Amino acid sequence: MKNIVILGSTGSIGRSTLDVVAANRESFRVKALAAGSNHELLIEQIREFSPEVVAVYSPEAAEAVRRNSDVEVLEGSGGVTEVAALEGVDFVLSAIVGAAGLLPTLSAIRQGRTIGLANKETLVVAGELVMEEARKSGSVILPVDSEHSAVFQCLEGRAPESVRRVILTASGGPFSGRNPGELEDIRPEDALKHPSWSMGRKISIDSSTLMNKGLEVIEAHYLFDMAPSEIGVVVHPQSIVHSMVEFVDRSVIAQLSVPDMKGAIAYAMSYPGRLDDVMEPLDLAAIGNLTFKEPDMDSFPCLSYAYDALRDGGTMPAVLNAANEVVVDGFLKGKVGFMDIPRIIRKTMDDHMSNGFSSSASRSLDGVIEAHEWAAERAGALVAS
Ligand code: NAD
Ligand code: MG
Repeated sequence: MKNIVILGSTGSIGRSTLDVVAANRESFRVKALAAGSNHELLIEQIREFSPEVVAVYSPEAAEAVRRNSDVEVLEGSGGVTEVAALEGVDFVLSAIVGAAGLLPTLSAIRQGRTIGLANKETLVVAGELVMEEARKSGSVILPVDSEHSAVFQCLEGRAPESVRRVILTASGGPFSGRNPGELEDIRPEDALKHPSWSMGRKISIDSSTLMNKGLEVIEAHYLFDMAPSEIGVVVHPQSIVHSMVEFVDRSVIAQLSVPDMKGAIAYAMSYPGRLDDVMEPLDLAAIGNLTFKEPDMDSFPCLSYAYDALRDGGTMPAVLNAANEVVVDGFLKGKVGFMDIPRIIRKTMDDHMSNGFSSSASRSLDGVIEAHEWAAERAGALVAS
């Protein structure tokens, strides 16, 4: 029986995690849940899974939960960080969206917990620091992002020197095949319609700009210690091959399944074992064709900006991420157009570069938080102008 904590339980990944728990009650017990503001759903989850404690970021939502349940309720970012570090916990699923996930995830890592990491922004913002803290505490970070779970599964038991590179697959998003001129007028409701995955709002927009793949390139760099040139991306619209590893002899090993995040979530939860029938079976004959093509960096420059940020190093990935969070929020609120997303991110990165940014600031938490806040403010000003 594993005691688990779910950070971001009301989101897309959090709900899928609870589905895995519901199907495997003999293996998992929910010790704590944390969420942002959706108190109605959190109250339902409390009734169904009886956690000992919950944390709610929004004080109003926390109050609503207190009125409707007997569970202990912590609030604010302090409360979320506190449940992340709870005693007697075997596994923490990190699925808060955005840089808001960093401090809670770091606090679980500092306790030496096994982490199922969905919140890729944690590694983009503070990858050096987070991996260093994990080494110090002995915390094991198991990827929940489907691509990284695939790479992790392909790498298992292989000699590190036999690995040549990793190849991440990308669905290409709903606008794959369009040229830049055809992207200017895209509205949020179009961008939210993902062809193969059902996800939260922010990651759906990130998938439509290919920024999601860019964030995943940075995530892969930290998880698997690969250089930017050793991380490739290929567009695969069917989302059946979740990623691949190429070995020195040019042999390639891939991991496949139907597109269902429960696969990657359950694998992290049960690692190194596997749970029965987590997903629908894969019927390749019914699918018929698996296709692959190069990503289009002219239409979707966010992917190349992420490679640039990784090569620039230091606080540049944190700046890329913060600018993206702010401008995606602006796009969802109708304040900027679709192609303003890459434009504002590029401008914020260029401004950070001309400020003469330091490559060592990314090794301290204060340094990354300062870079994050600077970039959020700069990108916010660009969204407003
Ligand atoms: P979502 O928007 O559906 O859910 C986000 C969750 O975070 C919600 O429970 C929300 O209440 C919570 N939250 C937001 N701000 C918070 C705060 N300050 N404190 C506490 N809780 C807060 O997002 P999602 O699609 O589930 O994605 C979550 C993370 O997983 C993201 O980092 C995303 O990139 C990653 N991810 C998602 C998928 C997917 O299929 N959805 C796949 C791979 C990786
Ligand atoms: Mg992914």
